[in-house]
Amino acid sequence: MSTLPDTETPPRLALARAGVDRAAQHRLDEPWLAAAWSHPSTKVLPISGGEAFVVDTDHGSELVLLPSFEASQTGDRYFLGTDDDGVSYFALAGETLPGRLDGDARPAGLREVGGSLSDRDAGLLVHAVALEHWHRLHSFCSRCGHPTEKAGAGHLRRCTSCAAEHYPRTDPAVIMMITDEQDRCLLGRQALWPEGRWSTLAGFVEPGESIEQAVAREVFEEAGVRVGEVGYVASQPWPFPASLMLGFVGRAEPGGTEITVDGEELAEARWFSREDLRAGIESGEILPPSGISIARHLIERWYGGPVPSTARW
Ligand SMILES: [Zn+2]
Repeated sequence: MSTLPDTETPPRLALARAGVDRAAQHRLDEPWLAAAWSHPSTKVLPISGGEAFVVDTDHGSELVLLPSFEASQTGDRYFLGTDDDGVSYFALAGETLPGRLDGDARPAGLREVGGSLSDRDAGLLVHAVALEHWHRLHSFCSRCGHPTEKAGAGHLRRCTSCAAEHYPRTDPAVIMMITDEQDRCLLGRQALWPEGRWSTLAGFVEPGESIEQAVAREVFEEAGVRVGEVGYVASQPWPFPASLMLGFVGRAEPGGTEITVDGEELAEARWFSREDLRAGIESGEILPPSGISIARHLIERWYGGPVPSTARW
């Protein structure tokens, strides 16, 4: 039960979508990049502080993408890729978003609109947000302390002194739906979360550790539950600021299901039957995690479909 059936279709996770080829072969080709930037079909995504302009439509949200001649000629350009029609896409990171835009454009971030964007736009925004944050925090060389400068069309920083190359960092994190012999699921509540928020357990993979080991260690540390067999489900980037969420299912070992919360990360943890969860959500006592999260997918995969909706979300 804890491993995946062969027939399971990979899930469509909100932030794991894309419609653009990253075309990494162009990242070090300055003449190609300059020609692509100035091409009239090129589309530019201004971004600042994790936000971009969107417009709301009848079927969701759309990113506002500018032709490069309308975009600022200053700011950091990140090449995001090309689409099937040969259109090139760049993000343009600045201190602020451009001041004037026509129509109903408004600034928004991934948490708000990540689930309502098209595949192409979701992929562009996740890529741009992750790069922007990495650049902001890596101005200095971790080897010698001197300033670094952007290279590789935004996918590399190079030290101005020792020439060390630094690549964007992604931190692997495991997130897991643990079940017991009665197929109840283990959910926890972090002390810092809003009242009523419950979710699957999660944690960062440590150096020198496999992801399967990380699943078992995190569940034991946070909730005192012993996990046996685990199976991989799916992943999605979670650039808040730099995680890659690796989703697992796992089965608690018989005799190892007694819960002891660590009191640091988790304030509470409980085993939930499907009926417990349904009743809790319907009464408003339990707020499930955001619809764009892999936690929500893991919960609904176990639940057998969408959990009930309530007015509180
Ligand atoms: Zn250096």
